[in-house]
Amino acid sequence: MNRSFKLFSVAGIDVRVHLTFPLILVWAAFQFGILTGGGLSGALFGIIVVLLLFGIVTLHELGHSFAAMYYKIPVKDIVLLPIGGVAQLKRMPKEPWQEFVVALAGPAVNVVLALLLGGVALALNIPVLGGSLGVINGTASLSLTAVLSYIFVSNLALALFNLIPAFPMDGGRVLRALLAMGLPYARATAIAARLGQVLAVGLGIYGLFNGGIFLMFIAFFVYNGAKQENALVQQEAQLQQVTVGQVFARQVQSLRPFNTLQDALTLKSLTGQTSFPVHDGFRYVGLLTGAQLQEGLQRFSGWTAVNDLVRRDLPVVTPGDSLERVQSLLQQHQTEALPVVDDHTFLGVITLNHLREAYQRLVLERRITIQPA
Ligand SMILES: [Zn+2]
Repeated sequence: MNRSFKLFSVAGIDVRVHLTFPLILVWAAFQFGILTGGGLSGALFGIIVVLLLFGIVTLHELGHSFAAMYYKIPVKDIVLLPIGGVAQLKRMPKEPWQEFVVALAGPAVNVVLALLLGGVALALNIPVLGGSLGVINGTASLSLTAVLSYIFVSNLALALFNLIPAFPMDGGRVLRALLAMGLPYARATAIAARLGQVLAVGLGIYGLFNGGIFLMFIAFFVYNGAKQENALVQQEAQLQQVTVGQVFARQVQSLRPFNTLQDALTLKSLTGQTSFPVHDGFRYVGLLTGAQLQEGLQRFSGWTAVNDLVRRDLPVVTPGDSLERVQSLLQQHQTEALPVVDDHTFLGVITLNHLREAYQRLVLERRITIQPA
């Protein structure tokens, strides 16, 4: 997420805070200092509990992150927003069992923290449950009882709220994982996402009539999150049904390592082809992608040999591979084309455009087939 800055990092995971985050501190000071008449003591109470609360949110997100890393899923970062935190995983766990564990790991942290806080409160004879009533009734002041009570109750609320089965919230991910144990992944996602959207609308309406501006924000994020993630999963499922062999370009112009960038540019304008395999006469050497060509022409002269720029790091795909695999490889390697090779024989190139065309065709076909006869 842009517009955030790094606070610190834990086990290689950057914990970042969004620029809008200070808003929540202002809100807390206003809520407990002015609205409930707590004065300066109340305002300080608000700021301290919110900071502690976000410490807890960070631990919750670290719970998800460590579970993901256990399954070898890299974690990009954790971003703290005024409405909560997000652990951004590089990819979603596709194994239902893994998603189940990763989704539950966050709320599990809150349950453990609640037990610890409850234990401390019990040992120190602090009435955490009674104390929190004071906070709710607007008599919050900066005392250990009030702070501990508020944190204890919020921590429990955080666990319960996140377990609402509103995909893509934690409870919704648990539901998708459970459904995916018996149903195809795409179908499980569609059901969980639809329920998530229905619950989000309910949450939003509840927030609207109860002045819950945060609930409305969360509802908005849940609704859109469900819609987007479902669309992505459905697209992947569709692309899984098409193979490279059905769509890739066989008739491609190739270059020799000694050809220049200018040669490539000429060939591009003559044929409309954007990525060029480079061949040394006997075997395939690498791919000169459109991006590589453009960058090369900006940085070097047109007389530079393509040999200096050709991408040798790209993996090859075979005609039997699915487009879903191609899509993830394209993303992973930041390229718009991949070479198609079979039994060490170079066959052609598959590009992002082939993927787009295939997907559009699939959507079109589906529209035609679901029309009533
Ligand atoms: Zn969570």
